[in-house]
Amino acid sequence: MQKFIIMGVQGCGKGTQAKMLCQDFDLVHICVGDVFRWHIQSHTKMAARINRIMAAGNLVPDDIVEEVVKARLDLHDWNFGFVLDGFPRNHHQAEFFLESYDIDAVIHIDVPDEVVIERLQNRRLCSRCGLDYNLIYCRPAANLVCDVCKGALIARFDDTPEAVRSRMRDYHGKTAPILDLFRKKELVISIDGTAPPPDIQTEIRRKLSLKVPPKSPSKAQAMAAAAAG
Ligand SMILES: [Zn+2]
Repeated sequence: MQKFIIMGVQGCGKGTQAKMLCQDFDLVHICVGDVFRWHIQSHTKMAARINRIMAAGNLVPDDIVEEVVKARLDLHDWNFGFVLDGFPRNHHQAEFFLESYDIDAVIHIDVPDEVVIERLQNRRLCSRCGLDYNLIYCRPAANLVCDVCKGALIARFDDTPEAVRSRMRDYHGKTAPILDLFRKKELVISIDGTAPPPDIQTEIRRKLSLKVPPKSPSKAQAMAAAAAG
């Protein structure tokens, strides 16, 4: 059983790394943002509560976020473990988590703000098929045209410099300090997130002393190639 939390500022590539890790070690990638989206799309009672709170102009309070995460983990569909992504985001949530669950490590993907800002500003999505491009690292063959479906490439509306900086302030103000809480328990491994995705993955596995599983290595390479965009 391997239970991990993955942390890093938005755009650090933690989702990609979580997926690569889960694929090879049969872990479940629990992305809390996806869990919330599932509630909204499924019109659950929880979604109705969240909608009422947000309609009143309030942020979803910690106890509700914690309830959603607890309910998700209580499904126990993770026989070999999980990688939790997007939680905890502040001190209260971190204390709740440590009281309720034991984990093996916190994987901290460390990328300087300026690198993330550059990445996000150069990010483009295909308006038709949703494929991800980067104008520096993963350019389309024709300018702003999707290689696969010839759709137009667009910037994500929430990737404006102001929005990116606001999310970063939130991360550094509330989320980064909880790394210290986990460090006191000697749970944190920090990884240089500016390296190519396959190298980052190798480093994560080295620092966690995870043995390369007996599966075909081409799968990890294919995922890494797909994730590079
Ligand atoms: Zn496309």
